[in-house]
Amino acid sequence: MKATIYRGTREIGGTLIELSTGGTRLLLDAGYPLFFNGNPIDDDVAKLPSDELLKLGILPTVAGLYQWDEPNIDGIIISHAHLDHYGLLKYVHLQIPVYLSAGTKTLIEVSQIFKICASYPINARLFKMYEPFIVGAFEIKPYLIDHSAFDAAAFEIRAEGKTVIYSGDFRGHGRKAVCLDAFIRQATKKADVLLSEGSMVSRSDELTISEKELENIVVDEIGKQNGITLVQTSSQNIDRIVTFYRAALRLGRTFVIDVYTANVLTELNALGNNIPCPSYDKLKVFFPRRLTNKIFDEVNGKYAYRFSKYRISREQVAEQQNNIVMLVRPSMKNDLERCKLSGGIFIYSMWQGYRDSDYQQSFEQWLDGRGINLIYQHTSGHAKVSDIRRLIDELQPKRIVPIHTMQPDTFLDYSDKVTLQNDGVTFDV
Ligand SMILES: [Zn+2]
Ligand SMILES: [Zn+2]
Repeated sequence: MKATIYRGTREIGGTLIELSTGGTRLLLDAGYPLFFNGNPIDDDVAKLPSDELLKLGILPTVAGLYQWDEPNIDGIIISHAHLDHYGLLKYVHLQIPVYLSAGTKTLIEVSQIFKICASYPINARLFKMYEPFIVGAFEIKPYLIDHSAFDAAAFEIRAEGKTVIYSGDFRGHGRKAVCLDAFIRQATKKADVLLSEGSMVSRSDELTISEKELENIVVDEIGKQNGITLVQTSSQNIDRIVTFYRAALRLGRTFVIDVYTANVLTELNALGNNIPCPSYDKLKVFFPRRLTNKIFDEVNGKYAYRFSKYRISREQVAEQQNNIVMLVRPSMKNDLERCKLSGGIFIYSMWQGYRDSDYQQSFEQWLDGRGINLIYQHTSGHAKVSDIRRLIDELQPKRIVPIHTMQPDTFLDYSDKVTLQNDGVTFDV
């Protein structure tokens, strides 16, 4: 078996790995990069025509992958619904099957329906966690894993007597921490290669408390003050939404979500997951003007109407503000203006790296001007070093290849079985 990491040996994001054996070519993830020449990629670059993107290397050169090629890849397995793992699907040939979990597929579809990412067809095949499936010469077993993306998977891939384990993005301190334990317990020991993510190796200053600890801290913070609690986090970070919903419940407050978040939660709940959605106790749906107009003009009014009976108006938010925990984002500034807020706190609960934009900064300055206290409370979606070490120690792979990391060299301290690879260079498994 041969492996090629097209991108990810020295960067976070844009993961794209090929395994090939016995005439089968399998890709693990098809991610869009987060960085270009060391800087975050801006939207102008993303809008360039595909031949430009290929020339710049934003689309890696992979024979038989793209729409404009003769297809020659047998399958792509997607670990989870973060763009740095699926964003290249936009350019992939439609004849190539894409294997993903139901939760991942739903999250991608909701992003497409709401035009948060580009809309394009995917030749989707669903896999079930823990149920092995076949792609050509490969047998692939997906494991549910703890990560900030819902229904994320790690994989064990076998062919011709060789085994590769791919961690995907993972952690051991979220609401599905037991999934990491189960993965470590069940996955094949002494695999030929472990591809392990290492995002946090270079972000050691980022706090890695558990979601449960975060919930307790947030309950304390909210309980200390009387006004409204505003929260900014990703609508698709379900663990975090649950953290704030639980915190609101513990304090007897109403949790107010916007209509987009309501759709995300409802679609995931419909898959049979016990995820809070608008019919749950103490949950209300807010209709921000700009978002609601977008739904009626560009999406479909049914995605707004379905929540009318759970609606909370600006006036009701104004009246009940001391008893509310509310999800917000910068585009809701005008709506919040009408809610006549008098004091309270704003909790920023995402990676700080997203916080520097002028748009975000002007939102936070505006909040500050309304007497709202700005607070940062977050925990990473990625494994802390002790969990990476645990994965290595307990799986005892014959070889470890770091991926999705800015500092692969740091892995050399974790085991003498670590070998560093280079982007685009094929190696034997
Ligand atoms: Zn990632
Ligand atoms: Zn991720």
